[in-house]
Amino acid sequence: MFDFDVLKDEMRELEEKGLLVKIRTLESPQGAWLNVDGRKVLNMCSNNYLGLCFDEELKQAAIEGIKKWGVGPGAVRSIAGTLDLHNELERELAQFKKVEATLVVQSGFNANQAVIGPIVSEEDAILSDELNHASIIDGVRLTKAKRYVWKHKDVADLEEQLKAAKADGARRMLIITDGVFSMDGDLAPLPEIVEKAEKYGAIVMVDDAHGEGVLGSNGRGIVDHFHLHGKVDIEVGTLSKAFGLVGGFIAGKKALIDYLKQKARPFLFSSSLSPAETAAAIAAVRKLSSSDELVKTLWNNAEYFKERLKSLGFDTGHSETPITPVMLYDAKLSSSFSKRLFEEGIFASSIGFPTVPRGKARLRIMISAAHSRKDLDFAISKFEMIGKELGVIK
Ligand SMILES: *Cc1c(COP(=O)(O)O)cnc(C)c1O
Repeated sequence: MFDFDVLKDEMRELEEKGLLVKIRTLESPQGAWLNVDGRKVLNMCSNNYLGLCFDEELKQAAIEGIKKWGVGPGAVRSIAGTLDLHNELERELAQFKKVEATLVVQSGFNANQAVIGPIVSEEDAILSDELNHASIIDGVRLTKAKRYVWKHKDVADLEEQLKAAKADGARRMLIITDGVFSMDGDLAPLPEIVEKAEKYGAIVMVDDAHGEGVLGSNGRGIVDHFHLHGKVDIEVGTLSKAFGLVGGFIAGKKALIDYLKQKARPFLFSSSLSPAETAAAIAAVRKLSSSDELVKTLWNNAEYFKERLKSLGFDTGHSETPITPVMLYDAKLSSSFSKRLFEEGIFASSIGFPTVPRGKARLRIMISAAHSRKDLDFAISKFEMIGKELGVIK
């Protein structure tokens, strides 16, 4: 038998460094307030940006989906598991995103595994922002393309890497970036990236997991935010964050989507979304298409909270979105701050290495349209109290 004690030693080491992730169990549905470990706490760490996880219309749509279509798809989609419901979601999502076509897969993580491999081979080059999400990094690892990592948001460095890739004889060059960087809440400089891509004949792919339902008109995402429709080749999105569900998608030209249906491994070798999820996703798309009220509330809440924290003297990094990092740098301090917040009724996780670089530990506060002004004021008063107690602010 393998001696698992070596793993225990590694866990102890993580704990000593303040890097052991404490996984809490929710005893109530995902919402502004949660019951956790027998305590009522304000939820400040979910990606439920618009409060759709517990939305009545989405719940009802899921129930109707089950009644009409059952609980499982029965096969991978390419063999016998494509329900008319899946096609309907893809059509409506394409309309919402203002693209020719979409492909829905099991998660945003899988969407990156689905799209990167099929479009590059060993003759090609992938140019990746150094802070790209783990699912992009893993997607890239599944290919034999040459890798060129460019400095975070540094378009001049991207250009150097494009020149290098070209000099190395790359056939295709695929630029990949997160749209919203999930740990800092900053945006990719997409207009400048597109400009460089046009100059060097590269393909542009953006993973907009934290921008879907958040940025752009009615939450259409970062491409809409920067008015770049028709200029970004591949959009990857998720239904697991602002859409309140679980699932991921790829949006772009019909030729791309048709090709992926022949080549994408998570599509060909893993079953698809269940009818409940698919039906609820259609309801979410319709809800966003018909009103931008939730998106507006989200942004108002985020601006209010960020301003108040800044005026108290907290370092909130350089977020441009509702993701609000509270930079504490030291992993132990960050972990103690999170513990104290929890004791005071606020659930906000501490994030350290390897999710963020060493020495860049932080609390990552996720603002939601589900928060009331009163909730935010409650949180701000607790941040002030604990910030002073731990010597983070004066
Ligand atoms: C969260 C996230 C994902 C994963 O999405 P899931 O649908 O939860 O699998 C992928 N990419 C980025 C940039 C993300 O932030």
